[in-house]
Amino acid sequence: MKSSNLGYPRIGADREWKKALEAFWAGKLGEEELEQQLQELRLNHLRKQRDKGIDIIPVNDFSYYDHILDTATMFGIVPQRFSYNGGPVPLSVYYGIARGTKDAAASEMTKWFNTNYHYIVPELEGSVPVLTENKPLSAYREAKEKLGIEGKPVIVGPLTFLKLSKGYRQAEADVWLSRLLPLYEQILQELANEGVQWVQIDEPILTTKLSSADVNRLQTIYATFAASVPNLNIMLQTYFESAEQYKEVIGLPVQGIGLDFVHGKSGNLSSIKALGFPENKVLGAGVIDGRGIWKSSLREKLELLEELSGFVNPERIVVQSSCSLLHVPVSVAYETKLSSELKDALAFADEKLDEIVLLTKAASRNLHEIPEEFQENERAYQTFKFSKNRKRDDIQQAIAAIADQQLERKSPFVSRNTVQQNKWQLPIFPTTTIGSFPQSAEVRKARQLWRKNEWTQEQYDDFIRKQIDIWIQLQEEIGLDVLVHGEFERTDMVEFFGEKLAGFAFTQNGWVQSYGSRCVKPPIIYGDVAFLNEMTVEETKYAQSLTERPVKGMLTGPITIMNWSFVREDIPREQIAYQLAYALRQEVEALERAGIGMIQVDEPAVREGLPLKEEEQAEYLAWAVKAFRLATCTVQDTTQIHTHMCYCEFHDMIHSIEAMDADVISIETSRSHGELIHSFEVNTYTKGIGLGVYDIHSPRVPGVEEMTSMIERALHVLDPKLFWINPDCGLKTRGLQETVASLKNMVEATQIARSNHTES
Ligand code: GLN
Ligand code: ZN
Repeated sequence: MKSSNLGYPRIGADREWKKALEAFWAGKLGEEELEQQLQELRLNHLRKQRDKGIDIIPVNDFSYYDHILDTATMFGIVPQRFSYNGGPVPLSVYYGIARGTKDAAASEMTKWFNTNYHYIVPELEGSVPVLTENKPLSAYREAKEKLGIEGKPVIVGPLTFLKLSKGYRQAEADVWLSRLLPLYEQILQELANEGVQWVQIDEPILTTKLSSADVNRLQTIYATFAASVPNLNIMLQTYFESAEQYKEVIGLPVQGIGLDFVHGKSGNLSSIKALGFPENKVLGAGVIDGRGIWKSSLREKLELLEELSGFVNPERIVVQSSCSLLHVPVSVAYETKLSSELKDALAFADEKLDEIVLLTKAASRNLHEIPEEFQENERAYQTFKFSKNRKRDDIQQAIAAIADQQLERKSPFVSRNTVQQNKWQLPIFPTTTIGSFPQSAEVRKARQLWRKNEWTQEQYDDFIRKQIDIWIQLQEEIGLDVLVHGEFERTDMVEFFGEKLAGFAFTQNGWVQSYGSRCVKPPIIYGDVAFLNEMTVEETKYAQSLTERPVKGMLTGPITIMNWSFVREDIPREQIAYQLAYALRQEVEALERAGIGMIQVDEPAVREGLPLKEEEQAEYLAWAVKAFRLATCTVQDTTQIHTHMCYCEFHDMIHSIEAMDADVISIETSRSHGELIHSFEVNTYTKGIGLGVYDIHSPRVPGVEEMTSMIERALHVLDPKLFWINPDCGLKTRGLQETVASLKNMVEATQIARSNHTES
């Protein structure tokens, strides 16, 4: 058996990649220096994989920003608004597409399947694809010349590329494919001529349901390759789930098929059992989790390989990660503050490579015998699995008791709405914001001083209170109806709560790439989650004491906390969500007791957890809704529950949103206004709703008229009595001046709308 890897994190152990990119963008690093630094990093990563003993090492998985953008620019696919005249795409254009220039807006970016990685969406419209450079070939040559490594070039497959691109009509799909295919053929031919043994063609789209037209395209693509490059070995790689069209996939004329036996384990195993695996093909067995952070039980993995060897000749099995290691941090070695029990249970990219190598060696020797070298792995794995530090009986009992409760508010929305209106006496079209106000340099500096213990707790609390003073006053001056405290005490909406709840751990260096140079350091939920102390009451109560107007309490919802964390795998995600919800419920109740009458529970990441398999989506949505209701259902009728969601498509989940039973929801719409309005035409929404009237991701101050027309359009389909007015999202990344100016315009637009819609 051979060992292989599908991709290695780009960012570097010390985020050298991020630093180099950002220095280049800031003009502090020249192009040549950037190239030099990135090459060094790239070669280091290859060297590391070789030294650890990986047999088949991926090349061309490295990127200057994003691998989908690399593929598009390799084909000369550049939106017309950027001035580009053919040839290799210059770095200035490349980064222009990714980040925007002063003359041209950036391309859209969106989530890479069900991960938290975002890619740049290729815009095909108007482009004439040509091969501007053979990137996989350059990467192969570099590894061979500099390190003597004969790597495995990684390429995004044609079907996945086409399906993820936009700017063409469905009816034109075949035309576009016929433009792209010859370019792919040229790449592969040049690789074959160079003596390349294996290429990895990534087709993760094969884990989703394809139309018969797409299945035909798939067959055309791989038949074309088989005819034009018969002597190149293609590993057709799927990941993130089981192959949906298994039968068609194994029938393709390729030499190897890579399957995910972690996230698509049951589906792929049952397909293999039912339909077998072709004798003449290699199976890329993705048995080591490429996107989770936990150590594998090598014993269990060996058993899995043994099971697979019942269907596939072991000589034709390659042991590999389930997907690229892009989605996990670099190494556990840099963590010095985690408990040893937890640290021993973790495996990031480097540790996963070790697991792959160890497993391959053992499997090559004897599949039926657990070797000695697995002992340490098994000990750590079992210790953590059964650790008392992860379990809390009180929580497990509380969650079990909730299982068959109704989880309903005391009264239905219609009656709540009446008592809430009587209580609050808000004008028609109440105005509010989403929660955060600008986190100025001053705010960030204060937090640093406090974290470094240069400021005492009192100094820091004082500072936060002053920010609240300033912004309560500003909000009153601007004329907003429902105020917020501003979230100055929070760096991150998940980390803030994670740090205050039991069951969470934080790494020092567990960074992963989210998009471009932006890296995130997700918290780890390793044990039962429990409420310990009040988390937000102090600041909210203080803000409320400064004003007669209502101040909304501000919490991050259970599903968002879960989806933006690395989570334990010994209990179902559903259970984790309920534990989080149960803890948040205690905070909701504490806020209510402290006299806070409006509480917002943000769920911007609800849609991100949606399973790739359609048949699993309804179940996920059902428990996501239940978790939200668990967190919010015990309050009095007079307490108004708000929620907020942003930047995703909602049209297919309006019913779930309705079922969450929040009194008011605020949704991002300014980027997708038309579409969302349309979905409210076909599905009625019967609770309070605020459609964001301006895009907070731009420093531009929107005009009054612009916002008035947004409001009017929305009022064609939504009930004026239930309509709220707010920006798209939190304002934490904006400056003070532009925020105040924008909100003043928003209030003015509201006044115009009010006079248009109130009969005199
Ligand atoms: N309340 C949060 C804020 O305003 C919401 C952020 C979000 O939706 N991502 O910052
Ligand atoms: Zn938002």
